[in-house]
Amino acid sequence: MARIVMKFGGTSVADLDRIKNVARRVKAEVDNGNEVAVVVSAMAGVTNQLVGYCQSLSPLFDAREYDAVVATGEQVTAGLVAIALQELGQEARSWQGWQVAVETNGEHGKARIESIEGEELIERMKLGQVPVVAGFQGIGPDNRVTTLGRGGSDTSAVALAAALKADQCDIYTDVDGIYTTDPRIVPNAKKLSKITYEEMLELASVGAKVLQTRSVELAMKERVRVQVLSSFADIPGTLVVDEEEVVEKEIVAGIAYSRDEAKITVRRVPDRPGIAAAVFVPLSEANINVDMIVQNVAEDGTTDMTFTVGKTDMARALRCLEQAKSEIGFTEIISDPNVAKLSVVGVGMRSHAGVAGTMFKTLADRGINIQAITTSEIKVSVLVAAEYTELAVRALHTAYELDTSAC
Ligand code: ASP
Ligand code: MG
Repeated sequence: MARIVMKFGGTSVADLDRIKNVARRVKAEVDNGNEVAVVVSAMAGVTNQLVGYCQSLSPLFDAREYDAVVATGEQVTAGLVAIALQELGQEARSWQGWQVAVETNGEHGKARIESIEGEELIERMKLGQVPVVAGFQGIGPDNRVTTLGRGGSDTSAVALAAALKADQCDIYTDVDGIYTTDPRIVPNAKKLSKITYEEMLELASVGAKVLQTRSVELAMKERVRVQVLSSFADIPGTLVVDEEEVVEKEIVAGIAYSRDEAKITVRRVPDRPGIAAAVFVPLSEANINVDMIVQNVAEDGTTDMTFTVGKTDMARALRCLEQAKSEIGFTEIISDPNVAKLSVVGVGMRSHAGVAGTMFKTLADRGINIQAITTSEIKVSVLVAAEYTELAVRALHTAYELDTSAC
């Protein structure tokens, strides 16, 4: 017997037939002798619609009222899933965030969970009842409903699993696991049976958006075993686990890409102490995150500084730099939104040399120019022209021998 948290995303509860399917899957786990708590998202599209309502009424809406509106999506699903379970003869009860209670800080619209009261739910599970908890929401210090930021019901599920001391948190979604890369680009990408928290975090942060990044951070901190699987297929998914649990460590677990960044080059700034601060402090003060940075040394005492920012921040970053022009002393700024960041991720890199070299050589063989590079202990990222994204991902996937053998 195990205690399991089952989380169902928007596509898994998109209509009443799918909600019945969810109820069947939950009941099957209970019938197998497990204690089960369920966390649900809003039905597919509902949150977008609710956000749209707020924006249409007021571009600068009050965040507390936004939360009051958008939290309703999950409340509807929780009630419907409880009804569907009862209809199958399975005792169930829905719970909104404040009823549990899921306590958060006061940052409306992007609140963080601070604590979850688990005792009552545990008691009920022991008696055979299935709690169906509305994800994405909690209650703030002001005693008002809060929401956790888009995609936040993954975090609700992991936090609940930690609070209930669950053996596993199964996240049901519309993909059947984590792949070595995007299967839309590489049809013979492999499904991973296991991946470490750290690899998952790196992949999530560079664009493989199956799980909300924060949920992976929380799972790693609380050591919650997470499984990503499909609610439409009856096959095991991918386990996201501690490194010790992965026996056969691949050197490279996966390849991710992101088209969310833009490149900015500040030309011919004086090459002297304080110049990086002059460029980057104004950006950080404007809350603009800088990712990759390259600085070249030129011979005439000036240098070019190239870096990336989020595409949505590009215009703001350019304005910010123009305003600081006299302090920085550049001649020109060049910007390019048509770039893609490719990342190779794997914990095996810690003990294997040559991963970066293989990446650079593979791209060179295809004539793809590398515009910037960053590395971490378990990741190498490069910036290339966006038009090469697919070609580069395919070439790298083959180079690291990740393709499934045709059968
Ligand atoms: N319904 C919320 C959203 O669409 C939360 C979630 O699904 O995780 O962002
Ligand atoms: Mg999601």
